[in-house]
Amino acid sequence: MSALIDLDHAATTPVRPEVVAAMEPFAELDYGNPSGSHRLARAAVRALDEARERCAAVLGCAPGEVVFTSGGTESDNQAVAGGMPPRSGTPVCSAAEHHAVLDVVQALDGSVVAVDAAGRIRLDLLATELDRLAATDRPPAVVSVMLANNEVGTISDLVEVRHVVDRHAPGTPLHTDAVQAAAWLDVADAAAHADLVSVSGHKLGSPKGIGALVVHHGAQVRPLLLGGGQERGRRSGTVNVAGAVGLATALELTAGSLRENGGRVAALRDRLADGLLDRVDGLVETVVVDRDRSHVLPGTCHVCIPGVDSETLLLLMEGAGVCASAGSSCSSGAAEGSHVVAACGVPPELAAGAVRLTLGRTSTDADVDAVLEALPAAVERLRSRA
Ligand code: PLP
Repeated sequence: MSALIDLDHAATTPVRPEVVAAMEPFAELDYGNPSGSHRLARAAVRALDEARERCAAVLGCAPGEVVFTSGGTESDNQAVAGGMPPRSGTPVCSAAEHHAVLDVVQALDGSVVAVDAAGRIRLDLLATELDRLAATDRPPAVVSVMLANNEVGTISDLVEVRHVVDRHAPGTPLHTDAVQAAAWLDVADAAAHADLVSVSGHKLGSPKGIGALVVHHGAQVRPLLLGGGQERGRRSGTVNVAGAVGLATALELTAGSLRENGGRVAALRDRLADGLLDRVDGLVETVVVDRDRSHVLPGTCHVCIPGVDSETLLLLMEGAGVCASAGSSCSSGAAEGSHVVAACGVPPELAAGAVRLTLGRTSTDADVDAVLEALPAAVERLRSRA
């Protein structure tokens, strides 16, 4: 089988060889349980402490503010619910959040605030909603606004969000889902105004099943998982030491190449997006006006193609060796429709042809060439059938 071209880096990323090498000793020789007190355990404790310090240095927090979790979903759930039992009050989020936030807010009967055409939370509506809730017996409990969107790639300005929260609901913790942003932005800086920050290793070149929740500024979070009281009582369960070492290594490598990788990948993405706009009649680049992509993550190219069903298009593209997606890999696919694309105001008939192409650190010029050939050809085929 010829190699597949991966244009779905927002779904997950290949594990970095340096990460595998860093993790290996903790899967084999130093496999101890860091909750124990003998020699094997002490080696694991040392590795965990060091991994925590390294993560903290990249994430811009104190080591004691890093809680290792199983990934982005768990971090988001804990931040939004506030633990078990959930915080009292009303959780609030934007309509473009990942389901790991949105579904928790909805399950807790929270408030979902509309976004603008780029997918950013409407600050005027957020202010109004916070004022409204403040006058009820369920005032705001947490506000959750993602740092960058996993489908359309829009980057939020958390300084503005913080300002609104401080004015209209002082003391309410601000959570940001930085799961996608962490591959491209300096999280320490971009998320400095959040109290709670979620990251996930597998979007950065570490294996799946490890992530972190940063609990800044003394924010109050109870554990979601109860049991042995690990992670200073904030997350029970034997800590994934090898995973923590992998996450620390992936974060450092990502942070060390942010500028170079971001610039290189943005240039590839621009060539891809421009090429598609030039080659496919009627194609709309979602959340982008006049090819200005300064507010979008460097790796994201999200398009909507009129008269085409994205599921069928993706099958044809896969036949040509290109893997992409219709939206979040967590949803069951295009058939369901994307709540993010709908929230941005894209009409349903256009949203039916949504395709998310996401590049990453291993993407090449040849990948872009292949998509520029495969996608227009697939659209042509589908349109000629209609
Ligand atoms: N948040 C965002 C923005 C994501 O893109 C994802 C995964 O796609 C998640 C949360 C969930 O992360 P994980 O797969 O580590 O549970």
